[in-house]
Amino acid sequence: MALIDLHCHLDLYPEPGGVVREAVDRGVYILSMTTTPTAFEGTRKLAHGAPRIRTALGLHPELAATRAHELPLFEKLLPKTAYVGEIGLDGSRPHRATLEQQAGVLMDILLLCARAGGKTLSLHSREARPMLLDLLAVEPMAGRPILHWFTGSAREIRRATELGCWFSISPAMLLSKRGRVSVAAMPRDRVLPETDGPFAQQNGRPLYPWQAMQISRLLAEIWNIPIEEAAAQLRSNFRRLSELSRELLDAKVIA
Ligand code: MN
Repeated sequence: MALIDLHCHLDLYPEPGGVVREAVDRGVYILSMTTTPTAFEGTRKLAHGAPRIRTALGLHPELAATRAHELPLFEKLLPKTAYVGEIGLDGSRPHRATLEQQAGVLMDILLLCARAGGKTLSLHSREARPMLLDLLAVEPMAGRPILHWFTGSAREIRRATELGCWFSISPAMLLSKRGRVSVAAMPRDRVLPETDGPFAQQNGRPLYPWQAMQISRLLAEIWNIPIEEAAAQLRSNFRRLSELSRELLDAKVIA
């Protein structure tokens, strides 16, 4: 039974090497985020010899204003990966003041991704969901967006789905009623597992990549189907996304 985690921060665990070893032993497929272009090469090295771990190139919205000068490095590294993240917008109180700068950085990144033939993108949208969807609509060729921890209304989820978005869900997101209500509105064939470890926690401990598939249990309740069927749906979604991501990469190589 394959384990999958489409959004975690391997480099930010206290002992990244140990987490990678255990993930490899358990056969977990991981999309490993980075928060700055400077962190990309080191984080990618963590996954050396671990073909099920893919490293995404990111510039986290909470750092976008102070690290905008790393955009040229982002551009230089972009051909090395089919995956981009963590990127996005954060409109919560501590970061609201930089929202315009964040939007500028995000638009630059989306344009670079479009020029590169499209990438698979993992996006943060805390307190900035409508604005994030507006920016994605401006640059539809940026690739395939995965909205991470997206606690939107049914209407926002419909709009995101029409824009081609996928949704990655952490066990921690399903702890809140709001999270569960959002997930219930998402199309089953666009839902993927994530942990957002080590930031996201369970019982006071960080979530680890092999725990993301725990969402199968609650999804089974929400969808009113057996757990095995919910897990099979997640795996089939992941397979489809991986195939599509490869196509994006191949298209770029041909171009
Ligand atoms: Mn994250």
